[in-house]
Amino acid sequence: MKVAVLAGDGIGPEIVAQALAVLRRLALPIEFAQAPVGGAAIERTGEPLPEATLALAREADAILFGAVGDPRYDAAPAERRPEQAILGLRKALGLFANLRPAKLYDALADASTLKREVVAGLDLLIVRELTGDVYFGEPRGVRDAGALGREGFDTMRYSEAEVRRIARVAFEAARKRRRKVCSVDKANVLETSRLWRAAVAEEAKRYPDVELSHMYVDNCAMQLVRAPAQFDVIVTGNLFGDILSDEAAMLTGSIGMLPSASLDERGKGLYEPIHGSAPDIAGKGVANPLATILSAAMMLRYSLGQPQAAERIERAVERALADGYRTPDIYTEGTRRVGAEEMGRAVLERL
Ligand code: NAD
Repeated sequence: MKVAVLAGDGIGPEIVAQALAVLRRLALPIEFAQAPVGGAAIERTGEPLPEATLALAREADAILFGAVGDPRYDAAPAERRPEQAILGLRKALGLFANLRPAKLYDALADASTLKREVVAGLDLLIVRELTGDVYFGEPRGVRDAGALGREGFDTMRYSEAEVRRIARVAFEAARKRRRKVCSVDKANVLETSRLWRAAVAEEAKRYPDVELSHMYVDNCAMQLVRAPAQFDVIVTGNLFGDILSDEAAMLTGSIGMLPSASLDERGKGLYEPIHGSAPDIAGKGVANPLATILSAAMMLRYSLGQPQAAERIERAVERALADGYRTPDIYTEGTRRVGAEEMGRAVLERL
């Protein structure tokens, strides 16, 4: 198996180093190849996603990604900004499915803004379609609307094939979990959603072992803060998923804990923490490496066919937390405050 390692900027290299140490300890037949991306790549080649980096990503079975973003390029034109790299990779590799788990570690229950009894048992996965919907639909623009002045318009659009494709990802993911899928739409108002609902239900017939339910997006937004433990897998479109996945992320407390995956049709994926390059703490050794370590676990599960190794990593993370190890972002009184390296070591020891 070949993994492209793109550490990127800011805290990227620090946290990816810890994830790599964990992966290496598993002694699986994985070959790692590193390449520059983001600001680090602009510095060396003038481009955020150099041809050689893209070529490496294309030939790999999976990509482990740190983060990109460097304030030095804040005023640069769009195509010269580090963040272009992630958009370029998504597009070039056809990464249409975004998977974001939100899991509450018992040891961190008090870090959530919600009451412990509300978030207890939270362990859900949001599967968001990433390449369609109103974000990409044509026509779009701003036009003259006569007496009304200007009007802005966008087009919400999903084809049946696109819906079935993302539904399959959700059903397959549910088979690796608790076998429940909740499809989220706005079928009481939107034509696009009515087709969405029908196409998901059609696709569900191929997965009789997975339980399917449907929910309107406004209700889902409420249920996520009222009783989030009811969900296993949520599948939804690009727009609704954008909003719901951030809402779900916040249920667990820290941004430094949350992994993600973006998959193509064949299960190849890019794995990264949901946070950015955190320039405010870069180089200080205090970044939380757990989101990246958990992204590596997702990579083993979804792209490399190593579910047991993934579980071993997840259990080691859980035990490090239960034993009181905390980076500053998740620190509470009475626990043990450590930096990125020491947290990485704590996970390694428990592995
Ligand atoms: P950010 O996620 O980098 O940081 C937000 C806050 O969370 C900061 O206070 C940071 O210190 C903290 N934080 C983030 N990750 C942490 C970790 N692992 N451990 C401890 N604390 C952590 O978001 P931002 O500050 O808005 O953006 C910084 C840069 O990152 C920008 O250039 C932005 O464009 C980029 N960015 C990149 C990605 C990506 O690579 N996919 C995603 C989001 C933002």
